[in-house]
Amino acid sequence: MPELPEVQTTVNGLRKEVLKRTFLDFWTDTPKIVKNVDANDFRNVIKNEKIIEVRRRAKNILLYLSNSQVILIHLKMTGHLLVGNWAYSESEKGWVSLVEGPIKDDPYNRFIRVIFFLDDGRQLALCDMRKFAKIELWKDEDIETVFADVGPEPLEDDFRSEDFIDLFRQKKGKIKQLLMDQSIIAGIGNIYASEILFEAGVHPEETVPRLTEEDFRRMFMVMKDILKRAIGAGGDSFSDFRNIYGERGDFQNIMKVYGKDGHNCTYCDNMIVKTIIGGRGTFHCPNCQKLKK
Ligand SMILES: [Zn+2]
Repeated sequence: MPELPEVQTTVNGLRKEVLKRTFLDFWTDTPKIVKNVDANDFRNVIKNEKIIEVRRRAKNILLYLSNSQVILIHLKMTGHLLVGNWAYSESEKGWVSLVEGPIKDDPYNRFIRVIFFLDDGRQLALCDMRKFAKIELWKDEDIETVFADVGPEPLEDDFRSEDFIDLFRQKKGKIKQLLMDQSIIAGIGNIYASEILFEAGVHPEETVPRLTEEDFRRMFMVMKDILKRAIGAGGDSFSDFRNIYGERGDFQNIMKVYGKDGHNCTYCDNMIVKTIIGGRGTFHCPNCQKLKK
């Protein structure tokens, strides 16, 4: 599931490729992906409008339009956005890429559910195998209310370790679940929570009251570092995620615990183990990440 680095990778690509472009039309075979407005009305509202800004908030992509509307896209489980050229094929019963390369060759890029037609002849497509992605339409002036219950952005320059510590002051639960709680801090999910806790030497089931300020300072440092490195690597393509060119990111190649059960820890050679916390697969090194006595 795309987390902050994958969504930021997408936003960076969109800024490069679709900023200032105008939507000429919209197509979908999965109208339920458009959530808070009828898909036909959505089409009418965005038609002939220009994309004037692209932003990320938590795991959401925001396309600001010239008519003061904002398109919100959440990729959910298996969604990703692609920019390319497709033609509808009756024999394939779907859209086929006209351009050679990963969008055409990689089977993960073949689940085209939504197409935005751009004024430069290209298309912006939502590829989503499981169809859990969502698209919403908001007025520019209302978009902040959508995020009223979402925590701060971990990579903002003015987000300091003291702010991070404050977020957890009254909390009682297990640290991994709280790190993944979007109402506490934005953008972190299962993969990056596991990686952050490993690098910080904190057991994923440690309860917050047992953690020291020093533990939090260490988590804060490695959180910023890991998220930045993951963006630099173009995100993680352990699973379905691809960038807007249909290419895989590289972070899965530098991950240290996620999906590494049975492998040796890169620091101590003990074996990484998998447990389930809150229904989610969790990975840690029992030697480097010990529960406090
Ligand atoms: Zn270890």
